[in-house]
Amino acid sequence: MSSTIGFIGLGHMGGPMAQNLLKAGHRLQVFDLVPEAIQSLVQAGAAAAASAAEAAKGADLVITMLPASRHVEGLYLGSEGLLASIAEGTLVLECSTIAPESARKVSAAASRRGIRMLDAPVSGGTGGAVAGTLTFIVGGSAADLESARPYLEAMGKNIFHAGGAGAGQVAKICNNMLLGILMAGTSEALALGVANGLDPKTLSDIIAKSSGRNWATELYNPWPGVMENVPSSKDYAGGFGVDLMLKDLGLAAEASMHARATTPLGELARNLYALHSTQGHGKLDFSSILKLYHQPR
Ligand code: NAD
Repeated sequence: MSSTIGFIGLGHMGGPMAQNLLKAGHRLQVFDLVPEAIQSLVQAGAAAAASAAEAAKGADLVITMLPASRHVEGLYLGSEGLLASIAEGTLVLECSTIAPESARKVSAAASRRGIRMLDAPVSGGTGGAVAGTLTFIVGGSAADLESARPYLEAMGKNIFHAGGAGAGQVAKICNNMLLGILMAGTSEALALGVANGLDPKTLSDIIAKSSGRNWATELYNPWPGVMENVPSSKDYAGGFGVDLMLKDLGLAAEASMHARATTPLGELARNLYALHSTQGHGKLDFSSILKLYHQPR
């Protein structure tokens, strides 16, 4: 069944996600603040919209993929906000990674207008967005998730229902806090081995088959040249930026304070990525955290 989808936010993630919806046969009305981002979707068959409200007009489904909480609240809320121009009953998928509190606030405002909103942050990176193999971590009603499922399946492979509104964001933040910690830990272990005379590839192969193995040693090694086609082997270009990881670790810290939970390693990782960012590396892939531990001679 072909639907009309309003897609807003066509960056590293939103662009390829929108492309996959086009490939699945849907009609897309797209909007981004950056005109070039709109143009590459238009070349693939989408209709350009002049504003977010125009993208949402007449759409069966609205999807947003924006940087952070302030962009999402800024877009949806207020008398001029997008919620005021979306038709009652419309399904909205908010896929950005944002604070659970923000997701709940926007979702509550949507339900007051009879709009069905799900928080559906993703995992899987830009590679997963291009390949259509993202993991969607969904918060909201189970019935709305069933309505969204065919669209989610066009962009992703794994779909989880984490709980009510905001629960998708909580689960996503927990995952990314762990990811930030394990990437720093993996970098630390590799740098220790190399400082003691080991070859980084040999050590990585050993860890990948031993009890310290993890996603970084298996799929996303931070040491340049150990693995092909990962950001570390491309001068840390592309992938998931240090500043986005820093944002997620900040969200974890907020969630931790909110719930009076204890997250000492998450806090330490947040400080390491903040230091790394202030050293001018904010736009590099987050695996560049290795540079804190090792400077090539
Ligand atoms: P990005 O910065 O590449 O894209 C965001 C896009 O939103 C930009 O093109 C920007 O112009 C647009 N935008 C901002 N405000 C807008 C507005 N008011 N109206 C229309 N467009 C607007 O970011 P990204 O890498 O695509 O990430 C998007 C979200 O996905 C973030 O919340 C990020 O944390 C999350 N995420 C990213 C990755 C990754 O690997 N990049 C992985 C998982 C989740």
